[in-house]
Amino acid sequence: MARDPYPADLERYSRQMRLPGVDVAGQRRIRAARVLVCGCGALGCAVADGLTRAGVGFLRIVDRDFVELSNLQRQVLFAEPDVEGGLPKAIAATNRLRQINSQVQFEPVVADVNPGNMLELARDVDLIIDGLDNFETRFLINDAALELGKPWIYAGCLGSHGQVMPIVPGQTACLRCLLGEVESGGAIETCDTAGVWGPAIAIVTALEVNLALRLLLGNPNDLPRQLLVVDAWEMTVRSLNTARLREESACPTCVGGRRDWLSGDKTDRSTVLCGRNAVQISPAEPRPLELPSLAARWSTLGEVSRNAFLLRFEPRGTEMRLTVFPDGRVIVQGTADPMVARQLYSRYVGN
Ligand SMILES: [Zn+2]
Repeated sequence: MARDPYPADLERYSRQMRLPGVDVAGQRRIRAARVLVCGCGALGCAVADGLTRAGVGFLRIVDRDFVELSNLQRQVLFAEPDVEGGLPKAIAATNRLRQINSQVQFEPVVADVNPGNMLELARDVDLIIDGLDNFETRFLINDAALELGKPWIYAGCLGSHGQVMPIVPGQTACLRCLLGEVESGGAIETCDTAGVWGPAIAIVTALEVNLALRLLLGNPNDLPRQLLVVDAWEMTVRSLNTARLREESACPTCVGGRRDWLSGDKTDRSTVLCGRNAVQISPAEPRPLELPSLAARWSTLGEVSRNAFLLRFEPRGTEMRLTVFPDGRVIVQGTADPMVARQLYSRYVGN
């Protein structure tokens, strides 16, 4: 069989370049693209995997958490050694992705996506991917995307269903046009109560990668203006045309120019982590912590262990475990009560 007539450095992409919508010119556009993946759980893992294999030039992967055994059912970039090593998800994901495609440039960021760093994370990328598990941070992406005029792809999964929608500032409806503010807090179901079905993740992330590549190939005008809602268990797909939503919604973000999440408050925040019986305490401003000196201080108070990225501490006589990151964040496991977590934080880390 004749060799593919492609440049040597692009040959690994020969199968996708055969698509008329891609070809060599399209592949070069994909390679020139810079993408931010916010959150590297089930959605972020699968999208980062797809974009890495497709040959995106640069991927910045931001995640605040570390790998746990219950992640492996659906978070495709992780394996048991990552759990044993206590690795942050951004690090474990990048380790794996580098093995898949050494042509891609990766930047793992172990941090919370918050109003203080969102614009900086997104400023130099072409596209933002939603790999998150909460609406507060999705609305933050939405604000930043509109502020910077960059496209992003909204996606979410719960139980056996999921949804996905491309958002292009100035052209499509935004997340707030779609949802108003109802989802930004209060009693919505989470993966704690509803679980997550792996095949639903696979379907939603395949659609997300498809939309991402279509956007990076250019012509955002011919993207479908739809919210797709799939149920993997029931094998149903519904599509909601969002073309008129933007005109009809009088959206405070699109039309009014408000950035309610981006201009978020400056106080320390505590976040109950979905499905984890855990609370994250994150300082409003970066508060660098010296992990070795904390480890020394805590060594007489309980069990302490450490790797290059984080420190673990189990205070004696409690059922709690604190995981401390160098940026000042602490994840308190063993409680879903922010008050209890904050007490432990001030007792051991200080204010
Ligand atoms: Zn809007």
